[in-house]
Amino acid sequence: MIDVGANLLNEQFRGDLDGVLARARHAGIEHIVVTATSLDDARAAQELCAMHPDLSCTAGVHPHLAKDVDEDWRAQLLELARHPSVRAIGEAGLDFNRNFSPPDRQRSVFREQIEVAGELDMPLFVHDRDTDGAVYELLSDFRGPPEQVLVHCFTGSAPDLERYLDAGYSIGITGWVCDTSRGEELRSLAPDIPLDRLLIETDAPFLFPHGATPPTGRRRRNEPCLLPFIAQRLAELYRVPVNELVGHTTANARRLFRLDSPA
Ligand SMILES: [Zn+2]
Repeated sequence: MIDVGANLLNEQFRGDLDGVLARARHAGIEHIVVTATSLDDARAAQELCAMHPDLSCTAGVHPHLAKDVDEDWRAQLLELARHPSVRAIGEAGLDFNRNFSPPDRQRSVFREQIEVAGELDMPLFVHDRDTDGAVYELLSDFRGPPEQVLVHCFTGSAPDLERYLDAGYSIGITGWVCDTSRGEELRSLAPDIPLDRLLIETDAPFLFPHGATPPTGRRRRNEPCLLPFIAQRLAELYRVPVNELVGHTTANARRLFRLDSPA
């Protein structure tokens, strides 16, 4: 199976990334898309991908970091995105939960990434947290095929999901779906996502899946090797065999990120 969102450059993985990758491979993770949250991150991700053929990455600016971009960031992004290991623009979007960057700045940086993804015909890896439809509205400017929009770590409401599905977007589900208390709404909504639009991701090191056995002594750190646990829980909600669910999510990931074309 394929983890379409893991923050392998996060400082929590500094020091034992080789072990993290070895555990992932052992757990049957055939490919990981490394999430970049800044352009510096994207550069580091490319170096990591150059060493590991089973990794690809995104390039983009997370809404939290929108306030930190250089003046010529768009030109830098366009150049970074041409690197063959970069398979999507992002993560990009809006996060009004804590507003680490001013909302207007978040909007303008997101808008430009929507344009870049359309211009380059690349998928857009989208972050949407507490934006009350603002991400959805801006996405109407996306010029590529709608399934190339991946709303990652979906944790929204039923109307949010309905809008995204009606627009034709793809949806990423994390271990949030394993949480029987705060994930309850997602647990009831997730099976409404058609299997041909569903992708799975850990968002590691964040969102340790509730009920999983920690792979190391670091009890709250999530890792790509826990993706099979998430897939199992999700398959139970869909009431399909886990192999069937994983067959779909893997094919969707290969198609979306064009993993069969050479890096
Ligand atoms: Zn995110």
